[in-house]
Amino acid sequence: MDFNLPEDLRDIQATVRDFMLNVVEERAHEIEETNGVPPELLRQAAELGLFGLSIPEEYGGVGLGMLGRCAVYEAMGQGHMGFGGVISAHASIGTSGLVKLGNEEQKRRFLPQMASGECIAGFAITEPSSGSDAANIRTKAEKRGDVYVLNGTKHYISNAPIAGLLTVIAITDPGKGTRGMSAFLVEPQSTPGVSIGKIDEKMGQKGALSSEVIFQDAEIPAENLLGPENLGYREALGILTNGRVGIAARSTGAMQRLLDLSVDHAKTREQFGQPIAEFQAVQFMLAEMEVAIQTSRVLWQKVAWMVDQGQDVRRMASVAKYHATEMLSQVADKAVQVAGGMGYMKESPIERYYRDQRLLRIYEGTSEIQKVIIARSLLA
Ligand SMILES: Cc1cc2nc3c(=O)[nH]c(=O)nc-3n(C[C@H](O)[C@H](O)[C@H](O)COP(=O)(O)OP(=O)(O)OC[C@H]3O[C@@H](n4cnc5c(N)ncnc54)[C@H](O)[C@@H]3O)c2cc1C
Repeated sequence: MDFNLPEDLRDIQATVRDFMLNVVEERAHEIEETNGVPPELLRQAAELGLFGLSIPEEYGGVGLGMLGRCAVYEAMGQGHMGFGGVISAHASIGTSGLVKLGNEEQKRRFLPQMASGECIAGFAITEPSSGSDAANIRTKAEKRGDVYVLNGTKHYISNAPIAGLLTVIAITDPGKGTRGMSAFLVEPQSTPGVSIGKIDEKMGQKGALSSEVIFQDAEIPAENLLGPENLGYREALGILTNGRVGIAARSTGAMQRLLDLSVDHAKTREQFGQPIAEFQAVQFMLAEMEVAIQTSRVLWQKVAWMVDQGQDVRRMASVAKYHATEMLSQVADKAVQVAGGMGYMKESPIERYYRDQRLLRIYEGTSEIQKVIIARSLLA
């Protein structure tokens, strides 16, 4: 076994890490204050190819496999998590349905604009009455001639306020239960009957906007049906599976940044006449962080490799997401502790990470739902 990432991936990783640490982090204060990402940062991200990570080269993307994408996500985790959230909601769950299920005409129509960042994407399944219980969505799509008429409300949809394209999951045949679910490509900015609700006021991940998406007799052209009609819950949810591996990689990057900040602080902060790094209590916290990082990294690398081999990763993607996001919460807590009062101050990136990371245990399936998936697969 060779645990080294190929050299080209290490180069891409280094470029993205440099962008996150030296360009995006420089504007972190502005992102926090305005709850928005400066457009020039999005342009620079597009020039680096970040919007086209998962899009094949023939449609203008970078066409990285899962290992490559996750290597980039880990590097992205080392900078502002809200900025990373915009990119990953687009490049991961916003894009993967179209790449996997789209027909040639749909791909030619949307993917080039998505790769260039002109069209930002998102994915919408969650509704006010169905979060973890995603099989129970109520948004309906009724076929009338050459359109589907959508009615219902999605909420907490990442990127919705800025999205040019959303993959929306709706019920096409209520009589078929969870098998009566279909996916649609919806252009929220130009489709009458689709409106964006109030932007959510979140604890963290500023700049990564989410909101309600409301459908009132919204007519979606039949050619925007993604995959077969009555695609089914399992296939629709399959769009999220690879996203979970990406979240594990982002979490690993975030932990690495928190450890780096903690090591620097521990070496330079003196108490009782010596650097706090001399105290075994502090050393143990650093050691525990390192264990969390190494185990999370090996896991995402293994699962990404499995995806690239064409293996079924439903269980292992949950294992990787659950482990890395739970570890990240512990690492963030330890980073605050190592930094002392400074870790609680807005001027410290540690305070921001402490808030931002909390979301990763909730979206794309809570930690409890990951355990449900793992246990069901063991018992099947
Ligand atoms: C900022 C943000 C961005 C998001 N972005 C998107 C997006 O882009 N697209 C999208 O579709 N959705 C998105 N979501 C929705 C997200 O995926 C859901 O919030 C998540 O799946 C949990 O659903 P819920 O909030 O309704 O919580 P609930 O399902 O109500 O869960 C509440 C608690 O009950 C527990 N629970 C529920 N069922 C079980 C069970 N069977 N066993 C054990 N415990 C259980 C949960 O683990 C949790 O602890 C986003 C959410 C947030 C907060």
